[in-house]
Order: sequence, then C-alpha cells, then structure tokens
Amino acid sequence: MKNLRLIPIKKTIALVAHDNKKADLIEWAIYNKQFLQEHNLVATGTTGKLLETELNKPITKMLSGPLGGDQQIGAMIAEGKIDVLIFFWDPMEAQPHDSDVKALLRLGVAWNILMACDRATADFIITSPLMYEAYESNIPDYSKYLKRKVF
Ligand code: PGA
Repeated sequence: MKNLRLIPIKKTIALVAHDNKKADLIEWAIYNKQFLQEHNLVATGTTGKLLETELNKPITKMLSGPLGGDQQIGAMIAEGKIDVLIFFWDPMEAQPHDSDVKALLRLGVAWNILMACDRATADFIITSPLMYEAYESNIPDYSKYLKRKVF
C-alpha cells in the first residue's frame, strides 16, 4: 500500500536564497506577491526578514542558513511540514555551509517534495493547476531500508 501525504490547497512554502541570489528571489516574490499571500511561508533567517518587509506578510523565520537554518528546514521536510521548497542557491560561489546546502537538496528529493532551484522552475511550479487544489503526494517507501539487517 502506498504511503500518501495530503498537500492541502494552502501550502507551506519554504524560501531560501544565497546572498548573490537574494535580489532575484525578492524580485520573483514581489512579482508573485498575490500568489504567496495565499500560502504559509517559511524561510531562512535573512531571506525571511527581507521577504517579510517586501511582502508585508508574517513569515516563519528559522536561523540564518549557515547557522543552522538550512538544517532546520531540512528537518521540517523530513517531518512532512514543507510542501514546496524554493531554493535559489548560488552556482558560482562556494558557501561556508556547502554541506548543509547539499543536505537540504538531498532531503527535498528523499521526501519527494516540490523543489525549484531557479526562477523558471519556480514559475512553472506556481502556475501548475495542481497548485490550486489539494494533492496526494507519494511518500517514498523506506521500510526496507529501516528493516535492513545491520548486524
Ligand atoms: P539566509 O540563509 O537566508 O539566512 O541568508 C540562506 C542560506 O542558506 O545561505
């Protein structure tokens, strides 16, 4: 039997942007302000502060990404608390927290959540008709992994 997670109409969207990508994310968010008003927003600390000012909407702010915020959002993904991750990471600059960045991207895939790492994908995700209805998402089956013999 498949394990399903219901993604409600009002979705929880996590937003994260590296410093060189913050202007891009803010511009995208302002352009899509009306859409974003309809959903719960979560963000890493600095990204969240900027978005809160620009969108004039309360945002659940985690710690700053390099100080643990990426990992907090990763944990929320693993707990089924995030439906969509918009993560504008910087492909041109190494980050002090590269390991956290990799971990966040990995958990997004491990838990089959919607994930956009650039503007074009973010546009396609938020204009999908599925965005405007409740959606049953498949939770990957890790039961074999959990039951594996380790000694
Ligand atoms: P920040 O974190 O929003 O606190 O700058 C982003 C990141 O993960 O680097």
